[in-house]
Amino acid sequence: MTPAVALAAAPRQLLIGGRWEDAAAGGTFESRNPATGDLLATLAEGRAEDIDRAVAAARAAFEGGPWPRFSPSDRQRVLLRLADLLERDAEIFATLDTLDMGAPIRRTRGGVAMLVDLLRYYAGMARSIQGETATPSDPAMFACTVREPVGVCGAIIPWNGPLWATVLKLGPVLATGCTLVLKPAEDASLAPLAFGRLVEEAGVPPGVFNIVTGLGRVAGAALAAHAGVDKLAFTGSDATGRTIVAASAGNLKRLSLELGGKSPHIVFADADIEKAAATAAIAAFGNTGQVCSAGTRLFVARATEADFAQAVAAAGAKLKIGNGLDETTDLGPLVSARQLERVCGHMDDARAAGATPLSGGARLGGGDYDAGFFFPPTVLAGATDTMRAVREEIFGPVVAILPFDDEAEVIARANDTPYGLGAGLWTRDIGRAHRLGRALQAGSVWVNCYNAIDPAVPSGGIKTSGFGREYGPNHLEEHLQVKSLWIATD
Ligand code: NAD
Repeated sequence: MTPAVALAAAPRQLLIGGRWEDAAAGGTFESRNPATGDLLATLAEGRAEDIDRAVAAARAAFEGGPWPRFSPSDRQRVLLRLADLLERDAEIFATLDTLDMGAPIRRTRGGVAMLVDLLRYYAGMARSIQGETATPSDPAMFACTVREPVGVCGAIIPWNGPLWATVLKLGPVLATGCTLVLKPAEDASLAPLAFGRLVEEAGVPPGVFNIVTGLGRVAGAALAAHAGVDKLAFTGSDATGRTIVAASAGNLKRLSLELGGKSPHIVFADADIEKAAATAAIAAFGNTGQVCSAGTRLFVARATEADFAQAVAAAGAKLKIGNGLDETTDLGPLVSARQLERVCGHMDDARAAGATPLSGGARLGGGDYDAGFFFPPTVLAGATDTMRAVREEIFGPVVAILPFDDEAEVIARANDTPYGLGAGLWTRDIGRAHRLGRALQAGSVWVNCYNAIDPAVPSGGIKTSGFGREYGPNHLEEHLQVKSLWIATD
């Protein structure tokens, strides 16, 4: 697949009520390839008036036209067709995400395959929506519950998995009969736009899926504050999450927030150390560290610390860094100059605070690296729990090695963070696996694995990593509301 063919599949305009349109004010912004700096596309810069039009279209589609008459089996059919279309165009979508945000093509291909499966999962779930018969004390009363779609949804998504976030937001919307206005991240909007075309081709009626590209503080803020949006799903940083909570208060819209993390990954001395080290490297460096649940605080039993740190550094050093379109690339660039600056700033801070990189630690330069935003896998030794690089999300390929002595200590230290997204642990002791599984404060705990994900298993955060769950039956619940229906039988 050539970049030109993939790029041709992505519209440059806004999708509103089934029509591709320029922004009302005519503004545009640029999307660039983070591996080369090349201009990929000039996209419509939607603003508040465009969000208004998109929300009106989503409302009209929710309340009238063909969509409310789609039965569960109709919605299932549309989702299955969408899955087939995504499978057909897998290479286009993998290439678009690689061009737009830098991830290696082997990773983005794997991502598309997972999303095809996810759409098929939601297709099945479309048939599972049921109410209950209640039992009021008064025998003359019949009562039941009806689970109804919550209405017009908004979604604001980040750049680290543009297609993934789009499909994850749209799947339950279609399964439940809601409608959606999507605001993609300004750094990576191409796959979401191309997906808009696929949704049309699948037979989803106009207005059910609307896309407004643009800046977070303009288009995103307008969507978060909009009184016509019944539910908003936000994935991004906790800082933006806080502004979303405040902005959404006007109409008390329902919210789900998938925010950042600083996830602990704990390796006990009785673990399969070789497997743990290889997994720890992927957990920290995969997607160049731009993963919300990356295992960035690596707690290692003191007896194995030095060898383990070397093993993770060696595994990182083997990863081939380069342009994601190269089939042999393991790690692509960071998404933007801003992101590179952020990672380098954390490195300066960590060094000043006494940590030493065992590997990596500085931007890659020279040759093809100069044009992009490349940063190598970095293992920090001599780190402490209180350093900024250990407390704050870096969102780059940086892992801190933190030795520990006993179970109670490591639980306390692992939980000493405002975040609570993921946590991992390696042990052969089944009792310990259960104890830590419950004691660790995180939405997901992985034992002898890391970052496992499946359409049927809920995922989400606690503490400042957010609230609400995606994947699994819980994800559908976020899009449904319960109505109690009473009938006096006398
Ligand atoms: P971000 O918060 O800067 O941006 C995310 C989205 O919010 C973008 O679409 C952006 O345009 C929009 N936005 C920015 N300011 C806004 C505002 N004032 N009002 C409304 N919308 C606004 O985050 P980012 O830097 O793009 O993404 C990285 C962050 O996302 C990391 O913190 C990462 O952990 C998090 N993340 C979380 C998950 C998860 O599932 N928990 C998944 C991926 C990324």
